[in-house]
Amino acid sequence: MSTSNPASFLREAARETRVLGDYEVVVLGGGPAGIAAAVAAARGGRRTILVERYGFLGGMGTAAGVTNFCGLHANVAGDIRRVVHGIADDLTGRIDRLGGLSAPHLVLGRIHAQAYDTAAYKLAADDLLLSSGAELLFHALAVGVLADDAGLAALLVETKSGRGAVRGRIFIDCSGDGDLVAWSGAPFELGDGCGNMLYPTTMFRVNAVDPARADWGTIPRLMAEAEATSGRRFPRKSPIVRPQKHASEWRVNLTQVSRPDGRAIDGTDAGDLSRGEVEGRRQVADAFAFLRTVPGFEEAYIVDIPPQLGIRETRRAVGEYMLSDADVLGCASFADTIGVNGWPIENHVAGDVVFRFAEPGSRGFNHLPFRMLLPLERDNLLVAGRCAAMTHLGQSAARVSGPCFVMGQAAGTAAALALSGNVVPRAIDVGRLQARLARDGAYLGT
Ligand SMILES: Cc1cc2nc3c(=O)[nH]c(=O)nc-3n(C[C@H](O)[C@H](O)[C@H](O)COP(=O)(O)OP(=O)(O)OC[C@H]3O[C@@H](n4cnc5c(N)ncnc54)[C@H](O)[C@@H]3O)c2cc1C
Repeated sequence: MSTSNPASFLREAARETRVLGDYEVVVLGGGPAGIAAAVAAARGGRRTILVERYGFLGGMGTAAGVTNFCGLHANVAGDIRRVVHGIADDLTGRIDRLGGLSAPHLVLGRIHAQAYDTAAYKLAADDLLLSSGAELLFHALAVGVLADDAGLAALLVETKSGRGAVRGRIFIDCSGDGDLVAWSGAPFELGDGCGNMLYPTTMFRVNAVDPARADWGTIPRLMAEAEATSGRRFPRKSPIVRPQKHASEWRVNLTQVSRPDGRAIDGTDAGDLSRGEVEGRRQVADAFAFLRTVPGFEEAYIVDIPPQLGIRETRRAVGEYMLSDADVLGCASFADTIGVNGWPIENHVAGDVVFRFAEPGSRGFNHLPFRMLLPLERDNLLVAGRCAAMTHLGQSAARVSGPCFVMGQAAGTAAALALSGNVVPRAIDVGRLQARLARDGAYLGT
């Protein structure tokens, strides 16, 4: 399929588009950022809708089978602490009450992550969203925007009941791909500027693992031996093969999906995505055949290949501040902090994953500034999550779930404050935003 042949266009007839509703806050995307943004805006008393193309929430966390929260914790001078609270607590508490949350586990001997069951995440997120008073529009693929003199006016969606427009006063782009930023004409970046994005992964989970004999720590060595002795080739080093809450079920994060030219699949290109889905599943079959040779996995079977290829990075807004790798490694502080990121640089390069941590003994987290939620040139648009204003390497850290919850809660709260003060988001009093976030349980890192 060609997605870029400029000679092939058809002209459609102009048409009337049905208005589906009028809202004060319109959130695009139901991943960690979108969930937190919609809940915060609705709790702030604003008529809020969250628009999502799938029939469930969680974003990459469910749709791409991530099944593991990173970035809820930081290594603060050797002491690993939970540093992301607020709406993230409301969600993880609900997942836990459903029996779907694992205890935190150690990653690379330095930081905690926390696995969860996708089914529990979906149930918990529905409950959290609806109890906040936000409305949900599922199975609605956003396809464009309409603007007027006041800025963005409506989000255009395609649904099974036809095309529609969702009108709003403030829009929050939590699409992960910066769709709203791009459609509104605001500036954005794609990858590192040389066509390189973090590589995607097709996740999968296996069941019927014998937990008494399976040892995730041996898998890198067994992969190297398999390459040396059987000629098997793995697309990347640094596999993550770890147990879920129920010890016979393990998640497998070891594929790496690239284009024929070796660069990462572009998650904003339909042709790339189509080829990437097929290639990702092919790699799953290969990886599974290897796993069956690993002690404890002989009887394992694939219990889930998630709905989509896991996309780590596409567009990132150019905002009033671009969070960088220097900020992450230097544990930067900002006067307009909205919360913190404690996850290290996690760069998915060709054939490997390269981690870089802040110095041992350091504070172990950087502040996330409000300015990274403010795209340039558009006044009634905020952006949160993995498409917020970050450099390529800054995003490799702050794209994980914990900081996405932080950004989402701040964006939703900022939208509510802007509406109550009748100002644009970039004009709100940041001190009031911080006080509101702290009141609502967020940790600002100060
Ligand atoms: C393979 C893989 C492994 C990862 N491992 C971890 C991990 O272990 N721990 C961790 O914390 N993080 C991990 N991450 C990162 C993390 O999952 C994501 O970066 C995070 O989910 C980003 O959250 P978000 O809300 O910004 O966007 P997303 O989670 O991408 O959510 C965006 C949402 O918007 C919806 N959407 C997008 N465009 C449209 C549209 N046009 N119309 C309607 N809906 C739309 C999508 O369906 C999706 O639900 C991993 C990511 C990948 C890909």
